Amino acid sequence: MSSLLDDAAKQLEKALGYITISDDARERLTMPKSSLVVRIPVRMDDGTLKVFKGYRVRYDDTRGPTKGGVRFHPNVTLDEVQSLAFWMTFKCAALDLPFGGGKGGVQVDPKKLSRMELERLSRGYVNAIADLIGPEVDIPAPDVYTNAMIMGWMMDQYSIIKRSFQPGVVTGKPLSMGGSLGREEATSRGAFVTLQTLLPKMGFKDPASIRVAIQGFGNAGSILAGFLYAAGYKVVAVSDSVGGIYAPEGLDIPSVRQAKEETRALKAIYCQGSVCHIKEHATISNADLLELDVDVLIPAALEGQITAANAERIRARVLFEVANGPTDYEGDQILEKRGIQVVPDILVNAGGVTVSYFEWVQNRSGLYWSEAEVNNRLDERMAREAHCIWEIAQEKGICLRTAAYLHALGRISTAMNAQGAKEYFLGTAR
Ligand code: GLU
Repeated sequence: MSSLLDDAAKQLEKALGYITISDDARERLTMPKSSLVVRIPVRMDDGTLKVFKGYRVRYDDTRGPTKGGVRFHPNVTLDEVQSLAFWMTFKCAALDLPFGGGKGGVQVDPKKLSRMELERLSRGYVNAIADLIGPEVDIPAPDVYTNAMIMGWMMDQYSIIKRSFQPGVVTGKPLSMGGSLGREEATSRGAFVTLQTLLPKMGFKDPASIRVAIQGFGNAGSILAGFLYAAGYKVVAVSDSVGGIYAPEGLDIPSVRQAKEETRALKAIYCQGSVCHIKEHATISNADLLELDVDVLIPAALEGQITAANAERIRARVLFEVANGPTDYEGDQILEKRGIQVVPDILVNAGGVTVSYFEWVQNRSGLYWSEAEVNNRLDERMAREAHCIWEIAQEKGICLRTAAYLHALGRISTAMNAQGAKEYFLGTAR
């Protein structure tokens, strides 16, 4: 079986068919700059010691410090983290953020840890990777099953190691520790702006007649569902890791969100319950949700959800990828052949890292922005880059994913060439 990173590289390979970049840039993009594997010893509440496996990958830093989240999940592997770091490289370039791409992860089921074990694990992770992170080097952020509280612990631990206040080392922090207004909603807001920018161009006009299904009800999926509901879209199905609910007439999203939130009370970090425990709705499996007859399908959970195994059965007309890598290469080819538009992850979910960039800027300047200022800057950038990517796709007659890669590649290769490419050293540069 090919690795996730090989699969991701095929997306790049496809884009390289439409752009000429220097051999140097092509060569440099073939593998991550560095991949760190660490062990994290954690004292558990019962006195035993458990060792967890952790990773931090920096894919490329030509355009700036590497940037990307840290996920806590039982299935985290090095291959997955490398692929996620690869996507971050292109995401940051697609949005013109002055960052390269990185990613981290710990192989753990965080729902099985107590709050204090989770804190010790988060601090232990920073102890293990501290030499390779920093505000000018590599800047972690939240991802799957990590949140502001965890980022606060990580930032505090790094400050303890450095013996100085270091807010710029991590983004997605609590507001009281140098976080940014608007960061919590940023991924969803960015996805919403992208959707509002592109759906009319695809011929969808009236939100009330647009049926949407969302797989994944974490930070990104649930807040986005709220935005869509408020704007009048018909959200007919949502799901989480346990299962989903379906109502053809549309779900009352605020009450679904409230019901799920109530189950968070137990440990105050992870929701213990599932949307599918909400009694008054028909339940649906995650696999069936993907194949619903809807206009817009939003995978907002994990990678590898749409593959050769189910792509022929997808009935949505448009996919907005809020998760990273939800469609694998083969699945993508099938959707393209069937005329289903896929708006790619490296654009759709870039709102999170965009406001992370704003947070980092605020931390470095010491001047903090109003929520309106953050949101306006986010909206403006998302709409601008979405429009550019749409135009590239139209002009060249290619899919939006390839257009997004071309858009990003132009910026990455220009920066790489500026460091000196083969043509320069052989004297053939113009
Ligand atoms: N984990 C998010 C992503 O995949 C955010 C990364 C960040 O803010 O650095 O884009």
